[in-house]
Amino acid sequence: MANLLWLQGGACSGNTMSFLNAEEPSACDLVTDFGINVLWHPSLGMELGENLQKLMRALVSGQMPLDIFVFEGTVVQAPNGTGEWNRFAGRPMKDWVRDLAKVATFTVAIGDCATWGGIPATAPNPSDSVGLQFLKRGHGGFLGKDYKSKAGLPVINIPGCPAHPDWITQIVVAVATGRGGDLSLDEFQRPKTFFQSFTQTGCTRNMHFAYKVSATEFGQRKGCLFYDLGCRGPMTHSPCNRVLWNRQSSKTRAGMPCMGCTEPEFPFYDLAPGTVFKTQTVMGVPRDMPTGVDKTGYIKLTAAAKAASPKWAEEDIFVV
Ligand code: SF4
Ligand code: SF4
Repeated sequence: MANLLWLQGGACSGNTMSFLNAEEPSACDLVTDFGINVLWHPSLGMELGENLQKLMRALVSGQMPLDIFVFEGTVVQAPNGTGEWNRFAGRPMKDWVRDLAKVATFTVAIGDCATWGGIPATAPNPSDSVGLQFLKRGHGGFLGKDYKSKAGLPVINIPGCPAHPDWITQIVVAVATGRGGDLSLDEFQRPKTFFQSFTQTGCTRNMHFAYKVSATEFGQRKGCLFYDLGCRGPMTHSPCNRVLWNRQSSKTRAGMPCMGCTEPEFPFYDLAPGTVFKTQTVMGVPRDMPTGVDKTGYIKLTAAAKAASPKWAEEDIFVV
């Protein structure tokens, strides 16, 4: 039996909604098949008021073991570092987070807000929001860069806006069943099993990417969304085209550009007008290159690809 506590800071509840939609395994499977004891969750927790405070105090004091501490949302530090804008169970949430992280065997950040600040931490960041161990690309965040949970791991970051339901439940099961030590994390503490490959891996538009055939409107069935619509699939680490959403599709399959939501910089360009869903270019060359490709290589590659593009690539081949 593993005790799990899920708290929510500065958040929209999107990751909770995602978690409740999980299928492999589902939120119920966590309890019935994997012996996870959900002590409290913002949408499922029964305790309120004094009872909730009692539970929290028992965890902080070590009287009750905390095996998995899950945090969704940013750590709100405003105003003036007090955290008073986000109170929970009688005190600032940030004080609970600091105390619980000290006693947790594993600490897991779910979604962009908890991992690196996400949208709330976008300038001017009025709530003085930070992620648990990062602020955007900056290592440190609320708990500091040296933080390790009792299992000796840093915060396990499962980013996304929201994170895919199965990324959440599969990592929770791994740590609850004693396989936390097998997790290999990348430089941003994301489990490599999900975040080593790119959104582009498995995208049905890869051949259009290769022949530089562009989609110019959302939902268009032919064409790649990189050249005009700002798709970040070639430089975003996510398995969105391997572990499909609702088991059947993804943004790019549906004709919607990847916005790079699993990367620390999300949202990009601080949401400046004209920068979202539009490829940013300098002298006709995309400002942000596919990972590992330099500008000279890109120009040579796309010139050759365009010249070699077959006629069928310009047609809609997904006939139903
Ligand atoms: S639509 Fe996006 S993810 Fe798919 S091939 Fe084009 S750039 Fe890559
Ligand atoms: S396709 Fe891109 S923006 Fe959409 S969920 Fe995946 S990583 Fe995030």
